[in-house]
Amino acid sequence: MSDLRELYQQVILDHYKKPRNCRALAEPACHIEGYNPLCGDKFTVYLQLDGDRIKDVSFQGAGCAISTASASMMTDAIKGKTVEEAKALFQAFHELVTGAPADESNHSNSGPALGKLSVFTGVREFPLRVKCATLAWHTFHAALQGQHEPVSTE
Ligand code: ZN
Repeated sequence: MSDLRELYQQVILDHYKKPRNCRALAEPACHIEGYNPLCGDKFTVYLQLDGDRIKDVSFQGAGCAISTASASMMTDAIKGKTVEEAKALFQAFHELVTGAPADESNHSNSGPALGKLSVFTGVREFPLRVKCATLAWHTFHAALQGQHEPVSTE
């Protein structure tokens, strides 16, 4: 278990030091700000759709290792996916880090595989860190809904 924990930490540190897709997108991409006042994490998530597919997604900003790595891995995970696939991934990720039981009515064995995103499993032991890990996802989700006001975890 401690080996696994170490591996997880390495993946998170790697994304923190070398965040992927860390840049602004030009119009017609939309962008929205997300803020986690408890930790001071602040990101802008950029999103460009092509029909119902995520053509490009990126982020900029500053935050702790967890929030930055999560934003970086999120952009990697959802780029090229359809909006529905990305939403399903958000649900699965949210359940992973909050430990909330799967919604039985919504649950199916064909749920998306989280792959590398599973490195955030340990976050559920630290309730304050859950907000760091989900900040980029909530911000992305708000952008999908066409929201323009900044997202705050509080
Ligand atoms: Zn944080």
